[in-house]
Amino acid sequence: MTFTARTEFGTFTRNSTRDYLFCVVRADGWHQFSQTRKAAEKELRYQENRGRCVVLVPVEKSREQKRFLRLSGRCMDGFERGAGYHYHAVNGNRALCGATPGRRSAGWSDHEGDRATCPRCVRRLEA
Ligand SMILES: [Zn+2]
Repeated sequence: MTFTARTEFGTFTRNSTRDYLFCVVRADGWHQFSQTRKAAEKELRYQENRGRCVVLVPVEKSREQKRFLRLSGRCMDGFERGAGYHYHAVNGNRALCGATPGRRSAGWSDHEGDRATCPRCVRRLEA
């Protein structure tokens, strides 16, 4: 996921699998992404106490691009049986058709297809 902090001091981005919510940005461009407001406020106070010009802003999460992936692992749950042969249109960890890696699944395949072949994903893509 891409996190973006827009401030009067500039726009800063960061790619991470963590979930960042806030960013503390200093006038000179130094910045720190935080996962909690508490951590961000602590950093803000620390910088302010040192006489730094600093702002605390909520970060924007960018919409992830869809990828076309297959579920891997030897057995999907009953509902998704056979889904491993199809490429789903995946956004984050969830396919458009609602498929997610089940407990016994090894997750989404590393190999990406160039289009969705899951009928339900295709229907949603065309909707
Ligand atoms: Zn699907």
